[in-house]
Order: sequence, then C-alpha cells, then structure tokens
Amino acid sequence: LQQIADRIALGLGNVMAYEEEQRRLHILEELDKAKTLFFTNISHEFRTPLMLMLGPLEELMNRKVTEWSEGERAKVEVTHRNALRLLKLVNTLLDFSRMEDGRGHARFVRTDIASYTRNLAANFRSVIEKAGLKFEVAADTDAIAYVDQQMWEKVVFNLLSNAFKYTLNGKITLTLEMREGHIRLSVRDTGVGIPAHELPHMFERFHRVQNSGGRTYEGTGIGLSLIKELVGLHGGDIGVESTEGKGSCFTARIPEGKSHLEASQVYEENP
Ligand code: ADP
Repeated sequence: LQQIADRIALGLGNVMAYEEEQRRLHILEELDKAKTLFFTNISHEFRTPLMLMLGPLEELMNRKVTEWSEGERAKVEVTHRNALRLLKLVNTLLDFSRMEDGRGHARFVRTDIASYTRNLAANFRSVIEKAGLKFEVAADTDAIAYVDQQMWEKVVFNLLSNAFKYTLNGKITLTLEMREGHIRLSVRDTGVGIPAHELPHMFERFHRVQNSGGRTYEGTGIGLSLIKELVGLHGGDIGVESTEGKGSCFTARIPEGKSHLEASQVYEENP
C-alpha cells in the first residue's frame, strides 16, 4: 500500500510540475508579446517627432543663409546628423519588433541569389571606391535560394556597411558560393579587426567592441544581432573570423532549396 501511495504521490508531483512549467511558459510568452508591443509603440511614437524635426532642419541646411557664421552652420549640421542617427536606431528597433511580431510573415521567394546579391552590392561600389578601397565581388553560382528579399537585402547591406565603416585601407571582398548544400555569403575586409575575446559576443544585441577604430564611432551595436535573427529565420547561421589589426570575415550560410521552409511561406515568384 505504501508503495502505491508513493507512486501516486510521485505521479501527482509530476503533473503539478508539468502544470507549473506550462504556466511559467505562458507567462513568459505573454511578457514577450508585451515587450514587442512596447517596442513597436515606442518606436512609432519616436518616429513622428523625429521626422518633424528632420524636415525643417533639412530645409535650413539647403538654404543659403549668408548671415550664418561657420559655427552656427556646424551646430545645425551636428543636430541633423544626430537626428538621422536616432531615426536609424528607431527604424532598426522597429525592424526587430516587426520581426518578433511577425515571424509568420516572412516570404521566401525563389531567387537567383547570385544576381540578386550582385545588384545589391553594386549600390556600394562608388562609395567604397571613392574612399580609396578596392571592392571585389565574386558571386557566380547559379544556385537558387528561397529568401525573403527584404531580409536578404538587410543582411548584405549591414555586412557591407560594417566592412566599410571599419576598414580604412585595402580591400572589401564579397563572395557568394554554394558549398555543402548551403549558400554562403562572405564579406571579408582588411580593416581594424576584432579582438579575440570579443568574438563570442559579436552577435549580442547592443554589443559594441571597445576601442575599435574605424571610419566613424557612431553606431548602436544592433545591426549584427538583427541579421543573425534574419539569417536564422532562413534556417541558416552566421559567424565571424577576425584578426585584430588585419581584418575580419563574416560568413552567413543558408540552406539551398526550400524543403526546410514552411510551405505556406514559400513563393515561386514575387507575390
Ligand atoms: P554598430 O556598427 O551599429 O555598432 P553592429 O551590430 O553592426 O553595430 O556591430 C557591432 C560592433 O561590431 C561594432 O560596434 C564594431 O565594433 C564591430 N564590428 C562589426 N563589423 C565589424 C568589422 N567588419 N570590422 C571590425 N569591427 C566590426
């Protein structure tokens, strides 16, 4: 009898632990939803006044105000630059909350990934070359990828603009190739590099590397964590190799084809 009683008690204990776990999960999910909603709302609230500031500021800057001293002009320019920076941050926060809110809304479209990526990279050529850097693009594979094109654009743009920001001399190389059933996008630079102890934290939200010199110190540490999530939505992953003082190479991999994707989110052509 004692044994039976023990078993029942154990069974009951398990049921209660299970229910407790479910309740905890439910609370966490609710908290997550509330957080996403909070970010979305607050980002929206920030955007409107920012846009209202930027408009008149741009008008001021475009007018030839002769009675302005150099110092005054510089002040307006600093205000404008920082308002733009804030707008960029708010937009990225919005990207995050939209993504967390709408994982289900991704649209994976059949894409000739090499030509799509080459076209995206072409937008960077003039700014990179004007800064005296070489820009090499090697994307010749005929692989077909199913990508959410807006998301892929963010991945390519973020990696290229980081390479540009943190490289003062030398070369930026974008490579896209098929390897072991995966499409691999690499962006390699000959820039400032990243200290070894920082490498494990590169994709954490708001993480920025201390003392990394570069073209500009402005930044938010949000870009890499965003693209890690975006690549993850494609069933892929992203990594980095780097040597301080020599340069870095970021590589994103996504599986070829569509069998790993939710069928209802797959499109054979742009919807
Ligand atoms: P942000 O550039 O806005 O700070 P990111 O998430 O894109 O945000 O990057 C996080 C940090 O990683 C940057 O602050 C920078 O220190 C470092 N980093 C990113 N890309 C490179 C790169 N190509 N070379 C050197 N450091 C980099």
